[in-house]
Amino acid sequence: MENSRRHFLKSTCALVAGVSVYPLSSNQANAETAVGTNNTKYAMLHDETKCIGCNACVEACREVNHVPEGVTRLSIERLGPFGEYPNQFYHFTRHSCQHCEDAPCVNVCPTGAAFIDKETGIVSVNADRCVGCQYCIAACPYEVRFINPVTKAADKCDFCRETNLKQGKQPACVEACPTKALVFGNLKDPESELVALLKANPTQRSKLDLGTRPKLFRIKAKQGEIIL
Ligand code: SF4
Ligand code: SF4
Ligand code: SF4
Repeated sequence: MENSRRHFLKSTCALVAGVSVYPLSSNQANAETAVGTNNTKYAMLHDETKCIGCNACVEACREVNHVPEGVTRLSIERLGPFGEYPNQFYHFTRHSCQHCEDAPCVNVCPTGAAFIDKETGIVSVNADRCVGCQYCIAACPYEVRFINPVTKAADKCDFCRETNLKQGKQPACVEACPTKALVFGNLKDPESELVALLKANPTQRSKLDLGTRPKLFRIKAKQGEIIL
């Protein structure tokens, strides 16, 4: 009894700490941010309740975006095992750029190589302008940037802006996911699947207290101990 009460309290505290209430009407969205001169502001949702940790997303990202071995734009972290044998299970959580609306990486870049695309709200990198100073890597509170050993420029997830999006496709990780755990879409489109899911489910975003206004949402797995 005491164990379940403690578990409930831990879970509740964790949810309150990271709970995500995002303004989803177009007026509110416009007021919140200066990015996105048109009606597009891309974001992603990782439904952890559907994720099986297969890493198909990671491999698809590497292939489509020509990410060299030894570095990655995306990883799936495994937590667990939880529960008692033989009913043990794991939780999987996505680690990648959060596409912050107030992005520390952009704020510190001395050359303008790190930027927010005004048409889409995607935080991106202009490799031609990057001098490899690594200020952005130090400034990113989510630790998702790296120096690409081939281009020698800072690199990270750009929602496949230079690859799949240019070809009118979904991001490679979304296309590859066998369980539809990843949903990509436009926060300013009230008809989008993404907005419908955000309205229908409690979601979380990481490190909201920093004021970065991240646009990577997650539906948390419902079972298991939450480690604070
Ligand atoms: S998560 Fe890091 S790299 Fe991505 S926009 Fe935020 S500060 Fe920049
Ligand atoms: S959106 Fe594209 S760049 Fe970002 S993790 Fe997915 S596949 Fe990689
Ligand atoms: S491809 Fe989908 S199910 Fe597999 S690890 Fe990635 S998000 Fe999870």
